[in-house]
Amino acid sequence: RLPRERKPDWIRVKAPGGTAFAETKAMMRRLNLNTVCEEAACPNIGECWTKKHATVMILGDTCTRACAFCNVKTGMPRAVDMLEPQHTADAAAELGLEHIVITSVDRDDLPDGGASQFVKVIEALRRTTPNTTIEILTPDFRNKPQAAIESIVEAGPDVYNHNLETVPRLYPTIRPGARYYASLRLLESVKRHDPRIFTKSGVMLGLGEERLEVHQVMDDMRSAEIDFLTMGQYLQPTPRHAKVIDFVPPATFDAYAAIARAKGFLLVAASPLTRSSYHAGDDFARMRAA
Ligand code: SF4
Ligand code: SF4
Repeated sequence: RLPRERKPDWIRVKAPGGTAFAETKAMMRRLNLNTVCEEAACPNIGECWTKKHATVMILGDTCTRACAFCNVKTGMPRAVDMLEPQHTADAAAELGLEHIVITSVDRDDLPDGGASQFVKVIEALRRTTPNTTIEILTPDFRNKPQAAIESIVEAGPDVYNHNLETVPRLYPTIRPGARYYASLRLLESVKRHDPRIFTKSGVMLGLGEERLEVHQVMDDMRSAEIDFLTMGQYLQPTPRHAKVIDFVPPATFDAYAAIARAKGFLLVAASPLTRSSYHAGDDFARMRAA
């Protein structure tokens, strides 16, 4: 284990810049869209935006929760932007995306948790860019009726992602507003409702989890029939956020990936800089072609 004060060499990333980066940023502002790339201070933004890969974050830039690892601001969100679904589809068309990842803040203030906005975004994408595959990364819709999740499933995304984020023991400090088994059950119910949808989840490493706990999370995911797994290094966005307990070496990620494949995941992405949406389109296309 390396001391947490110094970032190891394998975390170094390309600085954002260049024409494609500036164009992606300008387009997002023009369409009034937020991205998780910016709001979560993702380390891959330089690489992804240069390639015109971006993850749109719908339902505003303000979250009703305050997870200890997350850079998105917390507060009372503004009214839902009714133009956002079409603007998201316009962004996918302008960027020429073969695969789009859509995520959102948590909207515990809305009666349906924001589910209907996900449905409208999926519908706008199907109308505008029918060949783009759609991956959604949703909140847990805690305390919302099962109908919220079913309406999204019926809209027919290609991939339904919801991150477990960490091992259950660390939930009270890292993901205090959520329940581990509720998140697992959400993904299980997506699969039960429509087995054609690929389900996906992910965890961050470096928060103090133990190896056997990570193995247990993989087993829990497989028993909920989750198809894809992502694992990446947690990075502390600001000193106010949860501390990095350790930097997990690339070889350990490789070992976890081998175990995950043996447990039956169809797609595994595990490396220090892996994020839910990192290379998601390339990986998905490769899996479908295999
Ligand atoms: Fe955005 Fe995902 Fe790339 Fe990060 S990995 S910059 S969140 S598309
Ligand atoms: Fe961030 Fe999602 Fe937690 Fe909100 S619910 S603070 S967006 S991780």
